[in-house]
Amino acid sequence: MAGNQTFTMIKPTAFRKNYAGSIIQLITAAGFRIRAMKLTRLTAAQAGAFYAVHQGRPFFDSLVEFMSSGPIVAMVLEKENAVEDFRTFIGATNPANAAEGTVRKLYGTDLQQNAVHGSDSDENAVIEADFFFSKLERY
Ligand code: GDP
Repeated sequence: MAGNQTFTMIKPTAFRKNYAGSIIQLITAAGFRIRAMKLTRLTAAQAGAFYAVHQGRPFFDSLVEFMSSGPIVAMVLEKENAVEDFRTFIGATNPANAAEGTVRKLYGTDLQQNAVHGSDSDENAVIEADFFFSKLERY
């Protein structure tokens, strides 16, 4: 399965703005199949654990506060070359630099509130999917 799955979240601002349906529509139209999905809200501790790699960065506390500020939609997606294709599909981290038509360009607010998360490697896709979903929750 390595290479065929990635993990994504629709971040709090995008969910609050009611963009979830439009974003999921784009994701499936681009050929990604939804293997797991849930609406949930991270505690600050959970957000800190998810983004532990960024601990010590100046934006870490702000990122944790933001990511625990409201519900998110978590998904495991499947497609050939899923991680790389999804990163291209969502665009650059900063929506201002994201290519036209990408999810972050269309639905991002700013560098932090950039609409969606996308795993950056096959290894992290597995870790991140396991963070949110049990085997029973995947199809
Ligand atoms: P990604 O892989 O494109 O999501 O980017 P990173 O792994 O570098 O950063 C993780 C998340 O932290 C990003 O998606 C943003 O939400 C946020 N972030 C990254 N860099 C900054 C920054 O310089 N300032 C702030 N406030 N947030 C940032």
